[in-house]
Amino acid sequence: MRYDIAIIGSGPAGYTAAIYGARAGLRLLIVAGAEPGGQLTRTSEVENYPGYPDGVLGPKMMEDFRRQAERFGAEIVYDQVEKVELREDPKRLWLSSGEIIESEAVIIATGSSPKWLGIEGEQRLYGAGVSACAVCDGFFYRGQPVAVVGGGDTACEEALYLSKLCSEVHMLIRRDQMRASKIMQDRVRHTPTIHIHWHTIPIEVLGEKSVEGVRVRHLQSGDERVIPVKGFFVAIGHKPNTDIFQGQIELDPQGYIVTKPKSTHTNIEGVFAAGDVQDPVYRQAVTAAGTGCMAALDAERWLSERRFLLKATATNQSS
Ligand code: NDP
Repeated sequence: MRYDIAIIGSGPAGYTAAIYGARAGLRLLIVAGAEPGGQLTRTSEVENYPGYPDGVLGPKMMEDFRRQAERFGAEIVYDQVEKVELREDPKRLWLSSGEIIESEAVIIATGSSPKWLGIEGEQRLYGAGVSACAVCDGFFYRGQPVAVVGGGDTACEEALYLSKLCSEVHMLIRRDQMRASKIMQDRVRHTPTIHIHWHTIPIEVLGEKSVEGVRVRHLQSGDERVIPVKGFFVAIGHKPNTDIFQGQIELDPQGYIVTKPKSTHTNIEGVFAAGDVQDPVYRQAVTAAGTGCMAALDAERWLSERRFLLKATATNQSS
């Protein structure tokens, strides 16, 4: 089957691109990927997506996105892309099932995955106090103590955001220095409710049904103790899901897809990128959806221009 646009990924960016593309009358396929619906299907309540005044469960919201895309004729295949050939015409995607998809344009919306520590309690209490997004979940712990792991810009941003909501923020940093930019470090150090624990790593997240505390170890003394917290925010970096595009598309040093300024165009003609796979900074559902819309508009214009040029060339050759 040959499509006008193939969208790889089914988070807010992928579905929004599908809604816009399908409404423009394009033949369009979404390859849903390993986690249909994306990261939001692993969260509970989403309270900051406009249009849901009472909040919405992440999986329900992504179900709404999917239904809206299907309503306009977008097709969905629940499979993973294993290999791509993006420089040829048509572009080709190899799925795990063995099927090969051909498409004139491709929108990459494969997102990113938070890095996890792999400690006891972390995955068990994910969504019940363990989070990788302060903007998404900080509100649930207002007036309560929380911990943030990491010393990069993300961890500092998370800690500063949480310091406005929570009674205390414990930053757990494994070295005697932070990786974050100086200005972010200064802000963190000058915020009275942020307590920095140097040379400290978490070794277990505690709690039965929800987070009650974190067991930490001081790396120099070896001493262990429990810090009582209700929220445990892991901010040790994200990994963009770009492994299958390595060597074909331009990536930045962290592996994020590079897009041309104020657009979703990549360095390959007819290939567009939207959502967290090209955004190390904002990483919100609403910003992902926004760039998904941009990608569909960019792709639609690219297809129109290309078809016009192909037709003009064919007419010239025949006359
Ligand atoms: P970084 O890789 O910069 O920082 C990760 C932090 O987590 C480091 O302090 C690291 O410690 C720590 N860490 C890693 N693994 C572990 C572990 N297993 N246990 C404990 N601590 C661990 O990631 P960020 O997400 O912070 O930033 C990624 C990029 O995005 C950076 O270039 C950053 O500048 C940028 N960014 C920019 C923002 C902005 O401009 N507003 C906002 C957010 C990010 P160690 O230093 O010891 O390795």
